[in-house]
Amino acid sequence: MRHLRNLVAALLLVGVGHPLASEAKEQPIPVVATLSTFADLMKTIGGARVNVSTIAPATFNPHFIEPKPSDVLKVKRAALLIHAGLDLELWRGPLLDAAGNTKLFPGQPGELDLSQGIALLEVPDHVVSRIEGDIHIYGNPHYWLNPENAKPMAQAIYDKLCALDPASEQDYHRNLQQFLAQLDQKISAWKAKLAPYHGRELVGYHNEWPYLMHFAGLRMGRFLEPKPGIPPTPKQVQFIEGYLRDQRIPAIVQATYFPRQTSDAVAKDTGAAVVLLCQNVKELPACSDYLSMLEYNVTQLVRVLEKGAS
Ligand SMILES: [Zn+2]
Repeated sequence: MRHLRNLVAALLLVGVGHPLASEAKEQPIPVVATLSTFADLMKTIGGARVNVSTIAPATFNPHFIEPKPSDVLKVKRAALLIHAGLDLELWRGPLLDAAGNTKLFPGQPGELDLSQGIALLEVPDHVVSRIEGDIHIYGNPHYWLNPENAKPMAQAIYDKLCALDPASEQDYHRNLQQFLAQLDQKISAWKAKLAPYHGRELVGYHNEWPYLMHFAGLRMGRFLEPKPGIPPTPKQVQFIEGYLRDQRIPAIVQATYFPRQTSDAVAKDTGAAVVLLCQNVKELPACSDYLSMLEYNVTQLVRVLEKGAS
């Protein structure tokens, strides 16, 4: 009898016997994010109201992903596509064409280009062609690594979710405010940690750190890649080795998905350290969400600069 009562209570709780008219409305919004970082921010603002999937695995170079047939299906079924814009995802156009989901095409309500509203760095003052393998032809597209830029990004996600699902506006607003408050606290702490190293210089592997450097008050203008997207050449390696020595630069910064061979060899020759930072959420276990990714990157930078200062 007691079991029966419990069963009835349980059935009532899950709403059995009451065909839910609102069920369809309560389905989470299917969202596709090109990068894990955008998926993370989308989950932070959207909460239970969004069902987010990601295309690019965080441990691969996001410029050169080859989407799988299952990715095409994800895009086909999505109500919203959230992406970096510019030429970050060189594979985005072909993927959209393959999926044929016109609701997500550029300028449509189901598209969110996060580069809108960002003050871009390194925008060329002349037209750059891709003939020589150049990427970053519209300006540097790795803007999410300045935590100040997470504010307009989170706001844009909030605005888009409210437009698609006005009934949940209060939830989105609460999530946004909570995230912005946490972010502001963290930004102050990170700035304080980095302040002693203002103006110091580091070398990069790929030019994907200018926004983080800008935030950190650090400089980085030389890279192992002779041009963004072109692997290191012997001539460039030789130049960088000389530069590291002459300028007494303590470290080469790279994301985890680039090969270590060249950087390790250069480090061995020059005494510089190789610092692995996360370009995207989940690239390393320590970078499990947006705030922990920035925390990790700042901590790593401070660690190597501290050593370099002694
Ligand atoms: Zn790049």
